[in-house]
Amino acid sequence: MTALTALASTTTESRSWSALLQDAIRPEFRVDVYVPQASDRVLFGALCAVSGCPGRGAHHVKRDHHLCISHTKQWRKDALPDVEQWVRTGARPLKTLKLAVRCCARGCPRSVYQHALCYPHYGRWNLAERPPRAAWAAAADAVSVSKEDRCRLPGCRFPAMGRRGFCDTHNAHFASGRKMDRAATAQEYVDRAARVKLSSAPRYDVRRPGRVARA
Ligand SMILES: [Zn+2]
Ligand SMILES: [Zn+2]
Ligand SMILES: [Zn+2]
Repeated sequence: MTALTALASTTTESRSWSALLQDAIRPEFRVDVYVPQASDRVLFGALCAVSGCPGRGAHHVKRDHHLCISHTKQWRKDALPDVEQWVRTGARPLKTLKLAVRCCARGCPRSVYQHALCYPHYGRWNLAERPPRAAWAAAADAVSVSKEDRCRLPGCRFPAMGRRGFCDTHNAHFASGRKMDRAATAQEYVDRAARVKLSSAPRYDVRRPGRVARA
């Protein structure tokens, strides 16, 4: 179909082969340097195994566990502990992004708001006058959770709560940023997180045909 369209247009104007070839290439690839989205598992590669980290898992640790470059450094600093355990309990957020972690209340799928608890669990714990947290959290009743919506921050897999579409961690992080900049919008926050993510994406330089370089 693409070839037929291209041939038809040569009857009215003479076009170079490179122009014809350009037509045959999907629009997103008609660039000098192609930066794939994180959803492109072939060209982007695996995501970092640390939950909420939007970085590319550039370093393969074992089986389906990849770490981004920054979390690989952090893991090495921690003296290379078992990676499956470490991504759940040892990994810390990177300075450039706020990493969401799970609420420590029993079976709660929401992310942390404060003191290792999601927003409603933190409220209940406060009302109970802050008893020892681990024991309280192990016996806590479930709170409501949105089943369909995920946090809109790129790479965050926690449920979205509240009108901005962020999980508890990212609601709180956005609100704290807003104290410094009253005019900050939720969209700017999302865009900034997307830029952090893109900076860790691989780049395919297609300016030299026959030698597609993965940088
Ligand atoms: Zn990471
Ligand atoms: Zn919770
Ligand atoms: Zn989130």
